Amino acid sequence: MPELPEVEIIARGLDSLLRERVITSVHTYYPGCIHGRSRNIGENLPDQKILGVRRRAKLAIIDLQDCQHLVFHLKMTGRLLFDPESDLGVDKHTHLSINFSDSSRLLFHDMRKFGYCCLLTTSELAQWEFYKKLGPEPFQLDAEGFLRIFAKRKGKIKALLLNQEIIAGIGNIYADEALHRAGIHPARPCGDIPPEKLKQLFLALKKVLTKAIDSGGSSFRDYVNSLGAPGSFQDLFQVYGRRGRTCRCCQTGLQCQQVAGRSSVFCPYCQSLS
Ligand SMILES: [Zn+2]
Repeated sequence: MPELPEVEIIARGLDSLLRERVITSVHTYYPGCIHGRSRNIGENLPDQKILGVRRRAKLAIIDLQDCQHLVFHLKMTGRLLFDPESDLGVDKHTHLSINFSDSSRLLFHDMRKFGYCCLLTTSELAQWEFYKKLGPEPFQLDAEGFLRIFAKRKGKIKALLLNQEIIAGIGNIYADEALHRAGIHPARPCGDIPPEKLKQLFLALKKVLTKAIDSGGSSFRDYVNSLGAPGSFQDLFQVYGRRGRTCRCCQTGLQCQQVAGRSSVFCPYCQSLS
């Protein structure tokens, strides 16, 4: 699933590609990709100018004229591809085409069909329960703010990192990578982690997210940016997807355990439970 860095790359790319473009028409190939809360896309999108594209949590948000916002959640396999000459092939996984006045278009493509898009006004977006409940952005927190959220909290640290209502944008990849770099076992109860160690986790988290954005994201399975190019952060993975291989720091065999219902890869030596 695209996480904070991948959605950030997509949003930045689309911001430079789509800003000021005017939508002429929309073609919906798979109506199931439209979220139940959405305003009518076919009626409300034509003639709208794009003011900018940004990210919040794992959502890519296209800001439009008239206080409207087209929100995409890419979930497992969603892609937003810019098609400058409208010559990319449309297949059974293409769900939506947003067409612009210069014959370019934006395609929403999703193999697994878990992703969605939703057109909302500014007040509808602000009132959307899912959106309202999103936790703070990691880059808007400082170490003190991170400690205020996590110190003495019940639950396993990995489960808390994945909870979008506690902190936004983190998924399995960057939770595992940050925990390894901070030397914290994914199943460790958060309340047992000393504040100094939590600070290390905060710094590790910011570091892996920054490095991943600088590397164009992680293309572990099928992530590509808005021009179809993969990222390279997967080359720097310390643990994620490396089950059965050895720790790059201490050569101990990496182990895998289910935490919060997700496979979590860790080094039993570098990331002890206590
Ligand atoms: Zn190790």
